[in-house]
Amino acid sequence: MDKTILILGSGIGGIVTARELRRHLGESHRIILVDREPVLAFPPSFLWVMIGWRTPEAVQKSLALVSKYGIEYRRATVEEISVADRKVRTSAETIPFDYLVIALGAEPLENAAVGSRAGFQSLDTLRCVEDLRRRIGAFGQGSVAVVIGGTPYRCPPVPYETAFLLDSYFRRRSASVSIEVATPEKEPLSGLGRAAGGMIRTMTGERAIGLRTGIAAAPEADLVIYIPPVGAPGVVRDAGITDASGWIPVDPHSMETAHENIFAIGDIAGIRLPEGFAFPKGGILAADHAETAAHIIARRIHGREPVKFFNGVGSCFLEVGNGRAGFIHAELYASPEPKLVFHEPSVGYHWAKVVHEKYWLWRWF
Ligand SMILES: Cc1cc2nc3c(=O)[nH]c(=O)nc-3n(C[C@H](O)[C@H](O)[C@H](O)COP(=O)(O)OP(=O)(O)OC[C@H]3O[C@@H](n4cnc5c(N)ncnc54)[C@H](O)[C@@H]3O)c2cc1C
Repeated sequence: MDKTILILGSGIGGIVTARELRRHLGESHRIILVDREPVLAFPPSFLWVMIGWRTPEAVQKSLALVSKYGIEYRRATVEEISVADRKVRTSAETIPFDYLVIALGAEPLENAAVGSRAGFQSLDTLRCVEDLRRRIGAFGQGSVAVVIGGTPYRCPPVPYETAFLLDSYFRRRSASVSIEVATPEKEPLSGLGRAAGGMIRTMTGERAIGLRTGIAAAPEADLVIYIPPVGAPGVVRDAGITDASGWIPVDPHSMETAHENIFAIGDIAGIRLPEGFAFPKGGILAADHAETAAHIIARRIHGREPVKFFNGVGSCFLEVGNGRAGFIHAELYASPEPKLVFHEPSVGYHWAKVVHEKYWLWRWF
């Protein structure tokens, strides 16, 4: 009998899950994708929109496109997840499921260590980034602060990449702008270990970008770009499936929750690392989780043992300005602590990120 696989959230993790499931399952079984947005906007390109290298249109795709792959996309807000009854209520209907993949991401928290204030700019959505782009375009001189409100926040390198790209942007225009990054953490990228912090200190120092750690309040600046700490969306907290960490605990290799055939992937997943370290919230990792969950669900439906598991290995680019990027390879499950290898910035890595962006938006749509 046909099974119904329901995927909540059609961001990076949700879309990859749906497409991978359809690939594994052929034409059988129902795959339903629910999201309140009509489009997927690709956050790894947001900083390029900020400095005018991309138009907003170039970095988003209509979710309706997935129908050509036999995936049912429903535009609706998820209002209640009932694990016991195995159904989900949305603003449009109630959907029973055999398998559930929760990929609802993370949302900005109000109770941050360093709060946001009126007038702060943000990178949270494409609309915010367009707004910031207009501010930057009209910014001739003064001070810019990139302020981290607390941890965890999305994509740990983003505040530093923002500073590096703005530094190079303003230098090219011979604009007299001072830039700093401020964080309540004792060390930058503290959740990823000492080596990561040292790398950031060196790179900010080389560019005369200020770095303040251990802040309790946002520094004064003419332009403040605020990076909020994030938590699980309210509908997930209300479902009673989060733990003391605030996230949905999962098996770190299968992404399955404590509830049979219910998976949580991407930013919403709570994966524990050794004390003092934090599993980063990143799109590349969300896509890897998605491929794992889709594989396991499809094998289970076909009555076969899974052979692919998430191994905690991930990578990301680090834009440094002037058309160059570094590359970080991380073994997050390494013992006794995550192992990071940083590849020095080059023009090649920047172009590899461009190729990745183009491939990603083509591959999944
Ligand atoms: C500025 C910026 C730059 C970034 N750059 C990078 C990068 O270079 N590389 C990288 O790996 N990561 C990057 N990230 C992080 C990356 O975007 C996230 O880690 C990734 O999107 C998480 O994927 P996800 O599927 O878990 O959640 P998301 O992609 O956030 O998707 C969640 C989806 O759920 C939907 N949703 C939420 N609640 C509801 C509801 N109640 N009802 C219906 N729909 C709902 C949302 O509309 C959304 O579409 C960046 C993030 C930002 C903000």
